[in-house]
Amino acid sequence: MNLDDLPIRDDLRGKTPYGAPQIDVPVRLNTNENPYPPSAALVADLAEAVRAQAGELNRYPDRDATALRADLAGYLGHGLRTEQVWAANGSNEVLQQILQAFGGHGRTAIGFEPSYSMHPIITSGTNTEWIQASREEDFSLDPGKAVTAIEEHRPDIVFLASPNNPTGTAQPLETIAAILAAAPGMVVVDEAYAEFAREGTPSALTLLPGHPRLIVTRTMSKAFAMAGTRLGYLAAHPAVVEALLLVRLPYHLSTLTQTAARVALRHRAELLGTVDALRRERDATVTWLRAKGLAVADSDANFVLFGRFPDRRKVWEGLLERGVLIREVGPPEWLRVTIGTGEEMAAFRAALEGVLL
Ligand code: PMP
Repeated sequence: MNLDDLPIRDDLRGKTPYGAPQIDVPVRLNTNENPYPPSAALVADLAEAVRAQAGELNRYPDRDATALRADLAGYLGHGLRTEQVWAANGSNEVLQQILQAFGGHGRTAIGFEPSYSMHPIITSGTNTEWIQASREEDFSLDPGKAVTAIEEHRPDIVFLASPNNPTGTAQPLETIAAILAAAPGMVVVDEAYAEFAREGTPSALTLLPGHPRLIVTRTMSKAFAMAGTRLGYLAAHPAVVEALLLVRLPYHLSTLTQTAARVALRHRAELLGTVDALRRERDATVTWLRAKGLAVADSDANFVLFGRFPDRRKVWEGLLERGVLIREVGPPEWLRVTIGTGEEMAAFRAALEGVLL
């Protein structure tokens, strides 16, 4: 028997699972992780915190993750309170819960592509119809066109990744405000990469007061260097959090996850201490690629989209042969490289020079 013989949903038939290849190579620059592992002090603190909890693992976790949400509210600032913050297993689960509460059969969600490909996948996975709008040639958004698309389709949910994946493009607050004014439903600003933004790129968190249908999602997978922990979160009006409580599975966040995330938040000075170095490495990467005559999208994130290669697969494979794994994603002639350590980026540059010779 194989998959096709099962009575699987018609809309899942013939699909392949989402996911970047997990290949064991010396230099992995393909999933936008932070390359710096936790320090020995953090690991020791984490082990101690887990040990302290382990004796109670016969009990379910705090179902509402109240202490963790209070810590996350404190980290975000902007006067946010615990009731305005919600957490789940990665921001992907946060997005799924948003769709379960605000999307569904007969409802629609719109996004501006190229953008994060999980937005349409989670949308259709929750039986919500995906509407594809587009970005400009330079991957920015024209606020007028975005508003027109929203007025035309009247979507229940608008997705806006800022900084956007895979392009790195951040949106000015005026564009987000214009979209909020036009949108009849929820507006989700996916800020997975917010901490990497360049000076002068403010967070949509500043728009929360007065915009009860705005949701800002974040993650500890990127700048926080905790991808293995699986902890994503959001900030919104308390009523939005109440809506998500209706669809979340009881005890969705394990005691171990909550504990690890709280330890990481206590160590945030260390974890976020790598962000400046990664930003500098990113800007240097953009400059280097441009000096090579390549097209490079401006980036406010920890990755860079560059091209244009009529046969991008060949370039991707050439890098892989040289031990450097990047991501074949985004518009057809472009590739995306995650910013790694200085040594990893030197290896990337050497490999790319070898491929482009
Ligand atoms: N949003 C965006 C824009 C992303 O790029 C990613 C990770 N690739 C996520 C959300 C999900 O990350 P996680 O589930 O690890 O929080």
